[in-house]
Amino acid sequence: MAEGVALVVQAAHPESSHRGLEGALCCGVQGRKHWEVAKVTREKSGLYYLNKGGLITILALENIMGKNGINAILNMAGLPHLIDNYPPDNLAREFDFADYTALLEALEDMYGPRGGRGLALRAGRATFDRVLKDFGPMVGMADLAFKVLPLNVKVKVGLRVMGETITKLTDQINEVEDAGDHYLYKILQCPQCWGRKTDKPCCHVATGLLQEGLHWLSGGKEFRVAEVACMAVGDESCDYVVYKEPLS
Ligand SMILES: [Zn+2]
Repeated sequence: MAEGVALVVQAAHPESSHRGLEGALCCGVQGRKHWEVAKVTREKSGLYYLNKGGLITILALENIMGKNGINAILNMAGLPHLIDNYPPDNLAREFDFADYTALLEALEDMYGPRGGRGLALRAGRATFDRVLKDFGPMVGMADLAFKVLPLNVKVKVGLRVMGETITKLTDQINEVEDAGDHYLYKILQCPQCWGRKTDKPCCHVATGLLQEGLHWLSGGKEFRVAEVACMAVGDESCDYVVYKEPLS
């Protein structure tokens, strides 16, 4: 858990069988000692992701872990006001980067780094599918997906368009560089690791989003995407290597 973060989980349930997810969920059962989640204020970033981006991430997680699971995550993230009160389905920039980060951090706290990563990847894929793809026609993405073009051209233009679209719609800033056998997709202002300190790169939503975008553009191919630098570990930006050759 990073310093200054929104919550402290204390007082594990006395029965070891109630630790972890179950433990967090068992709050509310009367007459027993349960997990206590004490919230302190997490400093807001003043930078914003789209409401719709926050909503799709929460819905993707709810879809996987159920209503009780997402409620527990929102509690752990210090965002109980969002329980049964999800962000509106619109394109206003109102979902603070600090809240988005808190959500992802709570996923890791509850499911461990591996489990949290898997869930974040799926949320990222859903975000491309249900948010960014809608902008396809507007920014030429759909043309790109359905046109007969060499795959390398689709990947090159597609990454640039995805980066520019996200930069335009949100306070996330992206740049794409050609680095020979791969592209370097750089996030210079990142909603996934705002104020976080970690040992390893932790911004997995964008990995899933890039994978899904390339999957769609290429007509079903999988691409290797790896986060190789991360502001949470002290790097200047969150950087993703996107290999030009698909895996399949
Ligand atoms: Zn990041």
